[in-house]
Amino acid sequence: MAAETVIAAIRRIYEQFDALAETLPKEITVEGEVRALACKVGCTACCHQSVNVTAGQVMVVKAYILRHLKGDLPKIASRLRHTRKGLGETMGAVGVRCPLLDQEGGCTVYEARPLSCRAFNSFDRGACEASFLGQDEKRQSVTLSKLLTLRSDATKAILQTELAAGIAAFRQHRINAEGQIPNFELVRSLTTALQDDDFEQKCMGGQVLLQDLKR
Ligand code: SF4
Repeated sequence: MAAETVIAAIRRIYEQFDALAETLPKEITVEGEVRALACKVGCTACCHQSVNVTAGQVMVVKAYILRHLKGDLPKIASRLRHTRKGLGETMGAVGVRCPLLDQEGGCTVYEARPLSCRAFNSFDRGACEASFLGQDEKRQSVTLSKLLTLRSDATKAILQTELAAGIAAFRQHRINAEGQIPNFELVRSLTTALQDDDFEQKCMGGQVLLQDLKR
């Protein structure tokens, strides 16, 4: 399977996920109170946390940047490197602005954003700000359980695609302890991917190892 085929397959999974997610309610009732979906353009709270990705999802974002944002590549790469340096050894960072956000609070790779970003939704903006911007005590956000099911199904479909493609990083996921499937973190793995013209070929050829993406 060619890298382009994997990228196209993952993008199709995204499209299906988005279409199903769009059918979900935009209002819910919590303890007798009707709440509207809080996610709006310009609210960037959820873009201040680590984003989990698989190797294939990194390939999708990289392909989008090379196709649509090539002129901005030096700026994007520099912002990624800067953020990555700030992350140090930390995993699961909160309060760190995603370097793919633009000045207006829009996602520069919106069409190609990872599944974690697509699947995020909240009916409590205050909870998001408290959790990701540290403006208050952490509190549990309200999200749709049906969306979590859709996300889980889409994740499985992506991993199956990567398994079929023989992506080495995925094989390493499989041998990880306790049957868990740890993902990569977006900033680190995309920095690595953009620095390496042969990233996709190495992934497909079994040469990109988990530790390479975590460096
Ligand atoms: S990739 Fe886009 S949607 Fe996801 S955290 Fe970064 S800016 Fe936000």
